[in-house]
Amino acid sequence: MNRYDYLIVGAGLFGSVFAYKAKQNGKRCLVIDKRSHIGGNIYCENKNGINIHKYGAHIFHTSNKDVWNFVNSFVEFNRYTNSPIANFEGKIYNLPFNMNTFHQMWGVVSPSEAQQKIEEQKKEAIAKMVQEGIEQPRNLEEQALALVGKDIYDKLIKGYTEKQWGRKCSELPAFIIKRLPLRMTYDNNYFNDKYQGIPIGGYNILIEKLLTDVDIRLNCDFFSNRDELTSLADTIVYTGAIDEYYEYRYGKLEYRTITFEEEILDTSNFQGNAVVNYTCSSIPYTRIIEHKHFETFGDDIFKNKQTIISKEYSSEWEEGSEPYYPINDLKNNNLYYKYKQLANNEKNIIFGGRLAEYKYYDMHNIIEKVLDLFENKKFNS
Ligand code: FAD
Ligand code: UDP
Repeated sequence: MNRYDYLIVGAGLFGSVFAYKAKQNGKRCLVIDKRSHIGGNIYCENKNGINIHKYGAHIFHTSNKDVWNFVNSFVEFNRYTNSPIANFEGKIYNLPFNMNTFHQMWGVVSPSEAQQKIEEQKKEAIAKMVQEGIEQPRNLEEQALALVGKDIYDKLIKGYTEKQWGRKCSELPAFIIKRLPLRMTYDNNYFNDKYQGIPIGGYNILIEKLLTDVDIRLNCDFFSNRDELTSLADTIVYTGAIDEYYEYRYGKLEYRTITFEEEILDTSNFQGNAVVNYTCSSIPYTRIIEHKHFETFGDDIFKNKQTIISKEYSSEWEEGSEPYYPINDLKNNNLYYKYKQLANNEKNIIFGGRLAEYKYYDMHNIIEKVLDLFENKKFNS
């Protein structure tokens, strides 16, 4: 007889929320992870009293009240509001593109002046597209120029994007840049969502509570013991890479990876903000994260005489490095759909999460998806 209803491969957010909901439904779960800790990419490591976002900065944001209530039922969230700044050749600009940015860029003060300036800037790009008979922007460069014009593209988009993706903006899909809002108010809040914050005490608390009383095996790679692990449960919930599950039979999906260069500094406050993007091409890293600003505010930042920063370097994913951002271009999407066809024909296995679905999901998307699975009984629970 099987000991478990579900073998959950991956103790990230998808696996952990799934385990919690399954447990609520009276199901027995075994969660495994090849890493030495739970939490997947939202895991924090505490060093010198500071929570380090080990796999990249994570800010929780959502407009879904059910999701917000769900996470708050496990841990209280602080008032952190993401307001990254951009450093271009030593000059600071606010993000997302808003009245502060337009003032810093052009000296304009009112929204109508800013609008006029943006229209002037866009005119050239749009005229060029019309002349060449292009109806819709075909790539990120055309999209950006048609959205904000040359000055913002040159100073705040081109360098950052080409470092982040390792490809020319003219070779990248336009949708990447559509995520950046354009605001005619003096509002530096990066997100438009109703709710936002960081769990007080860090993300580990959330994951630990989700996995309370659930059997967990760490340092356990599904593929090193596939048959035995599979035999332990009726159904597998697989949150690892989909191409790996099928032994890369059609080839490997591509990702961007990030290398984090961490430094402990003998100063209380290195850059005055959690996130500073370096948008010029001459600086090799994309951004610097100063972790203490996620959880300490006002004069409290001076209580710890040290600070910890991470410089982020983006590069192409290779075997052995962490797959972070899926490259959803045509070639990779087509490859993913071949794997998805195989997955659609499987029985007793649920593929979910960012690696199994080869899709960039924010944390709230993942929670929404799992809650929806259980609410609408979209699988055999
Ligand atoms: P993961 O967290 O990756 O978990 C998958 C787990 O499966 C991992 O622990 C892995 O070790 C394990 N695993 C894989 N293969 C195997 C195997 N063979 N055997 C055993 N275990 C295995 N979202 C936000 O909402 N806000 C943000 O600010 C934000 N910032 C981000 C920054 C970066 C750099 C990245 C990459 C993502 C960011 N996200 C953010 C997205 C967020 O990280 C994801 O939504 C979330 O982590 C997805 O959870 P998951 O469970 O699908 O994947
Ligand atoms: N971007 C940019 N300049 C910036 C920040 C972002 O050009 O200072 C672009 C870049 O192409 C990036 C996209 O906007 O990939 C989305 O940015 P966001 O911060 O939403 O993405 P994240 O890195 O958090 O996934």
